This record gives sequence, C-alpha cells and structure tokens, in this order.
Amino acid sequence: MSKRSADKIIESIIHVTGHDDRELLEASLASTLYELLNLNRVSLYRIFYEHNQPQCYLALEIDSDQALVRHSGDVLSTGELNALTSLKESLASKQPATTVLSDGSTLYSHPVINHLGNISSVFCLRGSDIHTYENERFIDGYFQIYNNYLHLMDESEHDTLTGLLNRRTFDKNLEKILAEWHKNLDQNDPVTEPQQPPLRRQANDKKANWLTVIDIDHFKQVNDQYGHLYGDEVLLLFANIMRDSFRGYDRLFRFGGEEFVIILRTTDQAGAEKTLQRFRNAIATYPFPQIGQITASLGYVEITAHAIPAQILGNADEALYYAKQHGRNRVCQYEQLIDKGAITAAPELDDQAIELF
Ligand code: GH3
Ligand code: MG
Ligand code: MG
Repeated sequence: MSKRSADKIIESIIHVTGHDDRELLEASLASTLYELLNLNRVSLYRIFYEHNQPQCYLALEIDSDQALVRHSGDVLSTGELNALTSLKESLASKQPATTVLSDGSTLYSHPVINHLGNISSVFCLRGSDIHTYENERFIDGYFQIYNNYLHLMDESEHDTLTGLLNRRTFDKNLEKILAEWHKNLDQNDPVTEPQQPPLRRQANDKKANWLTVIDIDHFKQVNDQYGHLYGDEVLLLFANIMRDSFRGYDRLFRFGGEEFVIILRTTDQAGAEKTLQRFRNAIATYPFPQIGQITASLGYVEITAHAIPAQILGNADEALYYAKQHGRNRVCQYEQLIDKGAITAAPELDDQAIELF
C-alpha cells in the first residue's frame, strides 16, 4: 500500500471515530470507502423489523463526489429487494455477500449488527476491483474498527438492564427531532423526520410525533414483597413487551427506575391513543412469573414544533400524574385534560426563560 493511501486511512479513522452521531459516522465511513476503493457507488440501507420481517430503505448514497442523504427514502418493495441479490443474501445470513453484475463489476453487501444481534443497516459497495487481496483486507479491517466503535456507542446509549435507550440518548434524540422540525418549518417544507421511513398510508389528519411517559404502578410493592431481583425481572419483561408493542422506528427509553419514555410516531391522535391503550392492555394482561399482574400508567403529549424539551416532558408528566391520581392503569393525554378543564396549562417556557436556569 502506498504511503499516500496509508496516510489517508489513518486520517479517515481519526475522522470516522471523531463522531458521536451515527449519521455523521455512517456518512464518513461511506465517503472513505468510496474514495479509497475507487468505487462507483456506496449505498447505505437502514433496516428495521416489522413482525420479525426485515424492511429496508435507502438512507444514504454516494455515486459522484457528493453524498446524497435521503432521510425518508421509500421502503423497498419485495421486487426491489429481490433485484439486490447480495443485500437479500446478507439479510438472510447476517454475513457479507457478493454478486457479479452484468457489466462485470461487483456489488458487495456488508451487514452491520447491533448490540441486540440484529442487522441495523447494510452497506452496499459497487466497484470493479473490490475483491483484490489488499482491498478485501482493508474492507474487512475497516468494518471491524467501525463495528467496535459502534458497539461502544451502543453501550453508552443503552440501559444495561433492559437494553432500551437511556436518558442521555433521549436528550440527544429529542433535540434532533425538534431541530429537524424547526429547519423544515423555516424552509416552509413539509415535515420530514430523520432516521424514519415514510408511513405507507398517509392520513389527511395532522401528522405528529408524541411523547409518552410511563410509570409502573405500585412498583415499590413488587420489590418489598418479592425482592429486588424479581423487580429487575419485571423491568426486563416490561421492556420486552414494549419492544413487541411498538414499531421499529418508534424510540423506546428507560429513564431510570420504573419510568420509561417513548417517542411515538403516528399519523394522528387516534392512532397514538390506540397504540398506547393496546400496550397498557398488554401489560395488564401479561402473567408475570410469581408476581402475577402488574399495571402501568401513561401520560402523553404532542411534540409541537417550537416546544422546549423540558416543557414537553413536564406536560407528559402532568398527564401521567393525573392518571396516577385517577385510578392508575390508564392512559391520559395532556391536551385533552386541558380541554376538559381537568388541569390548567403551565405557562409556556421559551428559550429565554430556559437560559435563566
Ligand atoms: P406509583 O404507582 O405511584 O408509581 O407507585 P410506585 O411504588 O411505583 O412508586 P415509587 O416511585 O414510590 O416507587 C418506585 C420504586 O421503584 C422504588 C424502588 O423500590 C423501585 N425501583 C427503582 N429502580 C429500580 C431498579 O432498578 N430495580 C428494581 N428492582 N426496583 C427499582
Ligand atoms: Mg416512579
Ligand atoms: Mg411507579
């Protein structure tokens, strides 16, 4: 390998591992591979699971010197996926795969596995000399560095007991969604969300994200009666039911203790209510070993474009508090409580007020 290539690789490793934002990290890796391997194209497909079936959408593509980032590429149809043989093979085997294309170039797919052992994305590299000995070693080594770094990121972003995202990640994610909304509003564009595929059915109702705060009811009694270990087991099973109840691109967090938060994407309020009620019911009817039945209370609020994160959380918390005060095992929506006069709206915080804290 030439000195120039070696220098470039070192530079690029420093660059790639200097990010703590996944999208920047991915874009940086894609452009490094594109440049150093002299590729024709690098595509990154994001994978999410629906009823255990992998779904893919194009998140990023480079086919000239410019990275084209598509945050809301369409979900690939079965036909489109079948046409990408190596991608399909990688999804099935969780291993890299190669297809030789009609023009003699190769399409090489490399799956990225997350901390839960699932494929989170697949890089597809297209070029004419991917499979030289040197290039193969480079690709292999480079993806190993990337994976190790990603696993460190995964660990720092997730709660160790349940595997859900942690509070620190929440602060980062909510800011990001809000920032994206601000940007789109400023440009007078339709709203698009980062890292999320488009909904296949578009309702005419207002599209919104929702923030939900969940707290297990009388959880102290579980610990007092059965001990902490059983308490932990309940938290783990609770998190699993959460994963089963929400869609792959909703964001699930454990905030600490027996408190959880969900950033829920749906088309309208009725959809959010239905999903949350279904989850509440799934918890209430689940036979927890030894303990039997537990319930949870939920409070949720719309994430409006110019709201302050602390206020959104505070409002959802208020709806949760109301649910606790009115029988527990229920779902309450902040705006509805305001409308019917059950609670009074807190004064709106603005950026200046926040700066005073
Ligand atoms: P409420 O219905 O009002 O929410 O009642 P609660 O008993 O759930 O509420 P409280 O906030 O008083 O109690 C929360 C309890 O959660 C306190 C502690 O015993 C338990 N807890 C917090 N973190 C953990 C944890 O990591 N593991 C276990 N096993 N228990 C925890
Ligand atoms: Mg609590
Ligand atoms: Mg509780």
